[in-house]
Amino acid sequence: MPEGAPPPSSRPTPRGAAEVDVIVIGAGVNGTGVARDAAMRGLKVALFERNDLAFGASGNSSGMIHGGPRYLSYDPAVTETSCRDSGHIQAIAPHLLFRIPFLMPVMRSARAKVMLTLMDAFFQAYDEYQPLKRGKPHARLTPDEMHALEPGLRGDLEGGISFDEWGIDGARLCTANLLDARERGAKVRLGTTVESIDRREDTGAVVGVRFRDLRNGATGRMTASAIVNATGAWAPITAALGGLETKRARVRPGKGIHVAFDRRLTNYAIAATSIDNRQIFIEPWQNMSIIGTTDDDYYGDLDRVVATSEEVRYLVQGIARVFPSIRSARAIHTYAGVRPTLFAYGKLEDALSREHQVIDHAAHGAPGLYSMIGGKLASYRLFAEEMTDTLAKQFRLGVACATHRTALPGGDRIVDPFALASRLEIDAVAARRLVYRHGSRAERIEERIRDRPREASVTCACEPVLEAEVRYAVKEEMARSVDDVSRRTRLGLGACGGMRCAARCGQIVAEERGLPPRFGREMALRFLVRRARTRAVALGPEQARQEALAIAVARAELGVTEANVESQTESEPR
Ligand SMILES: Cc1cc2nc3c(=O)[nH]c(=O)nc-3n(C[C@H](O)[C@H](O)[C@H](O)COP(=O)(O)OP(=O)(O)OC[C@H]3O[C@@H](n4cnc5c(N)ncnc54)[C@H](O)[C@@H]3O)c2cc1C
Repeated sequence: MPEGAPPPSSRPTPRGAAEVDVIVIGAGVNGTGVARDAAMRGLKVALFERNDLAFGASGNSSGMIHGGPRYLSYDPAVTETSCRDSGHIQAIAPHLLFRIPFLMPVMRSARAKVMLTLMDAFFQAYDEYQPLKRGKPHARLTPDEMHALEPGLRGDLEGGISFDEWGIDGARLCTANLLDARERGAKVRLGTTVESIDRREDTGAVVGVRFRDLRNGATGRMTASAIVNATGAWAPITAALGGLETKRARVRPGKGIHVAFDRRLTNYAIAATSIDNRQIFIEPWQNMSIIGTTDDDYYGDLDRVVATSEEVRYLVQGIARVFPSIRSARAIHTYAGVRPTLFAYGKLEDALSREHQVIDHAAHGAPGLYSMIGGKLASYRLFAEEMTDTLAKQFRLGVACATHRTALPGGDRIVDPFALASRLEIDAVAARRLVYRHGSRAERIEERIRDRPREASVTCACEPVLEAEVRYAVKEEMARSVDDVSRRTRLGLGACGGMRCAARCGQIVAEERGLPPRFGREMALRFLVRRARTRAVALGPEQARQEALAIAVARAELGVTEANVESQTESEPR
């Protein structure tokens, strides 16, 4: 039904009259967060994701559960809610958080002393929020102290500031939310795109969705009393699937890229400024370093967002001014995502609000349809709570949110990785990574290894990832391809770019799914080609030529066309 004024009597379809109470579209952090909260409050939930969980912004962010001191000057509410929710996320998923201390250098200039004093005062204000997220207060540092902490820092320093933030693996956060939702009864369909949102002719109320499984082409319908559009930067397109004008769920899509390097080059994250005076950073993140990020209005295809060599050069140039050795460091891949920022015309990208908003499309003649717009990884739980409160109101549910005090899967207790390593006689680093990704659920993988000791073998040496974890990702975490396993475990994202592990991973995935070995080999090669493409833009001309040659050889071997490398969803064997 096309958009129009709501009839006075328009009401959402009553609960119980449909297959599920609520359909959530999009398995980023907001969609998985809502699916979890709604399932926890007793609603019947279905979650649809066109690609894989964390395929969009949630798996391609800077991975910080931070307060964002930058927002303090123009959006203090965002700093407050992010810090508060960061505290909650730490409580429910303590295994997933890691500390990222920051240094902000100030170069000597006529105004440097004043700048440093102003920054000192500014960070005193930020310190007020630090207890909400268990952060340490800032410190004002002399040039000698800055160099002692990071010897690679260069430039004529006046001094600097240190402050404290937290990092997280966004894909693991989505996985944990999705698993919890599923274990509480949510039906989850990955690799399945919603093609239309159906509404009643008379009242405009939503009645359900039509969907297509992109792996086998199968189509279907599911009815629901409410539909949540949690598709991030895709939100306007999704709203249009329900006959609404795209402006009803408007975002200002902002592309951001990162470059990953093969090791931790620094112990501290270091803030720097780009040529156009934007704030960028180098950050130690898991086993590697990343530099980021850009923020540019994006008008391209949201399913094919890639970093360009120009964007890489822009970041390297800015970071090299404070950390010159970045120019000789080894880039191993790039990644890109699109922020679903709230729409505003005439503002520079950096100045856009990071606030979030629940839109009730009853006001646009579509009762039961809601869009989640904007937000941050750091405040996803609160955003999901607000969305689910709205659903609870629609369904007259008197159940309050409990996601802030109910542990995510694996977050219920701390497991000692060293004890795990000695019990299983595995490498302590492998045990540490296992516990990082799975928390107490690492013990489920331990059980697998007890039953089948050969699964203790290392499949990916760079991260590292054990064979048992790959099998667990397929059996328990809905991974269906090498790319999916990589998203859940970081397999193939280290220095070798998958060269040493993709083939074995493909073999294991094929075995677990009961597919012929050829399918495993093909998905491994597709993974390698995709990885090489993200790397090529960050390489020098000679290396890039070699990568191009390697890609061409892999393609020829596989008979891979441009189209099936681009496709994120592995086709089912026919
Ligand atoms: C470069 C960058 C850096 C960032 N850094 C940070 C940070 O450090 N800290 C922080 O707090 N925030 C950060 N953010 C913001 C944060 O990542 C996003 O606000 C958040 O991840 C948005 O989550 P989402 O679930 O709304 O969208 P997404 O994660 O983009 O998920 C939307 C999903 O919808 C799916 N979808 C689309 N259409 C359909 C359809 N028709 N049917 C089924 N599925 C569909 C897509 O495949 C996608 O998986 C960053 C963002 C970017 C881009």
